[in-house]
Amino acid sequence: MDKRKPNLCENKEECCGCTACATVCPKQAITFDYDMEGFLYPRIDFTKCVGCMKCEAVCAFKKDIKTPTPEDAKTKIFAAKSRNKDVVANSSSGGMFTVFSDAFLERDDIVAACQYSYETDSVVLSIISDKESRDKARGSKYIQAELKDSFNNLIDLLRKHSEKKALVFGTGCQIAGLNLLLESMHLRDRVVLVDLICHGAASSNLWKNYIYKIESEQGDSISYVTFKNKRNGWEYPSVFALIDGKEISIKAYSDWFYMGWSLRESCYKCPYTRIDRRSDITIGDYWGIQNVMPEFYDRMGVSLVIVHTERGMELFNNVRYAIDSRLSNRKDCLQPRLISPQLRPRDREFFWSDMQEKGIEYCIEKYIEHYDTSIKEKIKECLKRLLKI
Ligand SMILES: Cc1cc2nc3c(=O)[nH]c(=O)nc-3n(C[C@H](O)[C@H](O)[C@H](O)COP(=O)(O)OP(=O)(O)OC[C@H]3O[C@@H](n4cnc5c(N)ncnc54)[C@H](O)[C@@H]3O)c2cc1C
Ligand code: SF4
Ligand code: SF4
Ligand code: SF4
Repeated sequence: MDKRKPNLCENKEECCGCTACATVCPKQAITFDYDMEGFLYPRIDFTKCVGCMKCEAVCAFKKDIKTPTPEDAKTKIFAAKSRNKDVVANSSSGGMFTVFSDAFLERDDIVAACQYSYETDSVVLSIISDKESRDKARGSKYIQAELKDSFNNLIDLLRKHSEKKALVFGTGCQIAGLNLLLESMHLRDRVVLVDLICHGAASSNLWKNYIYKIESEQGDSISYVTFKNKRNGWEYPSVFALIDGKEISIKAYSDWFYMGWSLRESCYKCPYTRIDRRSDITIGDYWGIQNVMPEFYDRMGVSLVIVHTERGMELFNNVRYAIDSRLSNRKDCLQPRLISPQLRPRDREFFWSDMQEKGIEYCIEKYIEHYDTSIKEKIKECLKRLLKI
């Protein structure tokens, strides 16, 4: 009898590159190749494949996550922020990443989160062992994280230290893949999964080309980069890199991200732009809080925390001493990326072919966003539109 053949991603929109399939494969038959936009997609070596179909079973894009579960009815929603003002100032939203990870690091448990590597100019999901390296994982990086062996490393650690628990942060799709992987390995009970509300994943190759161009113009490498600095307040983020102490704007790159030119195909069809998920907790920005809870507004940022499971509630309760929080609800917390994915720009192909043929400089001129409207105003517009639905 012919062995079964897995079909992992017939269309690019059905794969977020989470690596769960390659991690579970008992024959190491799955490797990843970059496409011309710089996104990684799996390739199966059918000479090694034995047709066990474990890869399909852990693929989050093959699961129906839209059918409600009994857990969904128990979801609790909060506005929250760290009581430590420095933490809030140095985080993208209200600092819940720091608060949650403190709880695990203080017990010497495992924490995994995405850090920017100044050696490779890429974002990597790393195991974090102390608060100093955790602080380096703070801040949203608008670049798709390279997972490579990250899931394997995490699973090895969990198996080696059977007394330890783990806390893992990632985008909705990465965490959905990891959730299925951990369930298949009977390790899910030992891990708290926290996913982000997510606008999308931008090409890491595009980022590298963009930053290399800046570095060659400036004659030195970047020593720091931020996609969401709050010096003008949470709703007016500054985006820049530092080269030899000098501030260089990276606004063109960030505009491409917000406008959707540079996102992975799966982001325009993302199944995780919704409240209900299979993670334990979802965190994001509580956009529009001044309209629904003005007394809790903070110009330096407020987190939205969506607790899906008892495991998630236990962690939230454990950190209450370190946060201020208010109970919210499904209606008040809505924002665009909890309702639908970012729209795929109609001319997306032109952006990428121009990038290939004419280069970064040309695309900065042609595809730059001439928006004077601040993020705050854009969000207001979106919320107004949503409320009319
Ligand atoms: C690409 C991206 C898009 C986002 N889009 C939205 C959105 O549309 N709406 C919204 O409300 N919130 C969005 N967020 C989430 C929000 O910006 C904050 O990251 C989140 O609220 C956590 O903030 P914090 O204050 O708790 O801590 P922070 O200290 O800012 O925590 C940062 C957390 O983000 C993780 N992270 C950073 N970059 C990446 C990356 N490239 N891939 C995976 N994980 C990463 C870190 O590991 C860490 O866990 C997005 C985040 C990212 C990374
Ligand atoms: S079917 Fe099994 S052996 Fe084949 S690629 Fe998938 S996990 Fe690997
Ligand atoms: S979404 Fe993840 S598990 Fe599914 S094919 Fe892509 S990399 Fe593999
Ligand atoms: S928008 Fe969806 S598919 Fe894209 S990175 Fe975010 S969670 Fe993944």
